[in-house]
Amino acid sequence: MQSVPPSTTSTPTPSQAPTPPRYEFFKVIQNYLDDAAKIISLPEHIRGILRQPKNEIIVNFPVRMDNGEYRQFKGYRIQHSNILGPYKGGMRYHETASLDDFKALAAMMTWKCSLMNLPFGGGKGGIKFDPRGVSRTEVARITRRFFHSLGANIGPDYDIPAPDVGTNAQTMAWALDTYMNSFGLVQRQSVMGVVTGKPVSSGGTFGREKATGQGLVHCVLDWADRARFDIKGKKLMVQGFGNVGSHTAVLLSHLGVSLIAVGDHTGYLYNPEGFNAHRLKQYVEQNGSIAGYANGTKISREQFFQTQADIFVPAALENQIGAAEAEALQVRLVAEGANGPCSPEGEEVLRKRGIDVLPDVLANAGGVTVSYYEWVQNRRSEQWTIQEVDERLEKAMHDAYDRMFQFAKLHNTDYRRACYGVALQRIAQVYAEREIFP
Ligand code: NAD
Repeated sequence: MQSVPPSTTSTPTPSQAPTPPRYEFFKVIQNYLDDAAKIISLPEHIRGILRQPKNEIIVNFPVRMDNGEYRQFKGYRIQHSNILGPYKGGMRYHETASLDDFKALAAMMTWKCSLMNLPFGGGKGGIKFDPRGVSRTEVARITRRFFHSLGANIGPDYDIPAPDVGTNAQTMAWALDTYMNSFGLVQRQSVMGVVTGKPVSSGGTFGREKATGQGLVHCVLDWADRARFDIKGKKLMVQGFGNVGSHTAVLLSHLGVSLIAVGDHTGYLYNPEGFNAHRLKQYVEQNGSIAGYANGTKISREQFFQTQADIFVPAALENQIGAAEAEALQVRLVAEGANGPCSPEGEEVLRKRGIDVLPDVLANAGGVTVSYYEWVQNRRSEQWTIQEVDERLEKAMHDAYDRMFQFAKLHNTDYRRACYGVALQRIAQVYAEREIFP
């Protein structure tokens, strides 16, 4: 077993930590909203509007499975706010997904789009099931029936889904095809923008697949610049090696950062010499997980969080870094690829220990930003080059980082509240101008 730093006796390890109470993700997000609302003196009635989603859509639908039996599914689409533009946000397929999670994630999309100056509001949705437990043809039928059930609750000018955990470009191709066959029979081109994150050949954009990882790397570079921290030769650990985690690791490896610890739903691996991130990504694409990858030693989740490294990118699910994990981490920076990976208690411990956090609302906003570029290209029937997409994304991320940084400095607050503050200022301005209907 390679040398993973032992835990100190005074430090609780994740396994010793008491079972945390049920994590109320939406409440956590509402509390961040309340904190930022105080900072900018947001009018009370606007805070009241933004504390709840505008629409909560739940659909129940049957799907014929491969064995001929019918299974009932529950699908969600939460539309948090459309004050800045159409609802926008991913569709998640996961066995633990809940209404509470989707409400939290939809609200976060509102803040993210506002922070990034995009003409979108916030939405999120998905289905509570394990897509790994069914066949490809079953996922296709579940997806088609789900999007058919949503009907006119989505649309290119109304609510625009995208991939998230458990979904990908193929899912979006099925979603587009279903929508086209329901609503776009004659004007097919005009409905291309109903979903983003599509395969490039089906109306997607170059650069969308890596966009979230790419945006996160821009944030890490901005942070490193300000912290006078040379990332070359530094060590990286990544939790979750799907779209966000794998692209981040590959892009950082191009900058000389070495991936030494990695984990996913099957377990954790360690390699002090550094994994070849590109090869590991190919392995996961072929095998569905990091399990069985030869060039690493299996470690426990506890050992993973104790690994001596420089940068940690959580890119799996929410509520992964509680107080115990935050005490165990031996890094300078946590860059949130996932949405909500730090619990408030975990973040407080990180703050006390001087570990910087780049918050999700900024750090993983590259995905929705390039989704916006895809939507614009669909509207104009254009195809931008990867260089055009990359250049625009880089500028968008730097500008947003700067907005966050200036707000944090001016109001003497942390980066998370700063992101929420910037986002709320833009929304408050629009409400002040348009007022409340009627
Ligand atoms: P994905 O499905 O491609 O990958 C998810 C990864 O998390 C997989 O490697 C999976 O094995 C791992 N995982 C699942 N449960 C786990 C567990 N209990 N412990 C450890 N690992 C676990 O999903 P993704 O699109 O990469 O999304 C990951 C995170 O990033 C989510 O929080 C998502 O909301 C967020 N995000 C994604 C995008 C995007 O463009 N895809 C954009 C912004 C934010």
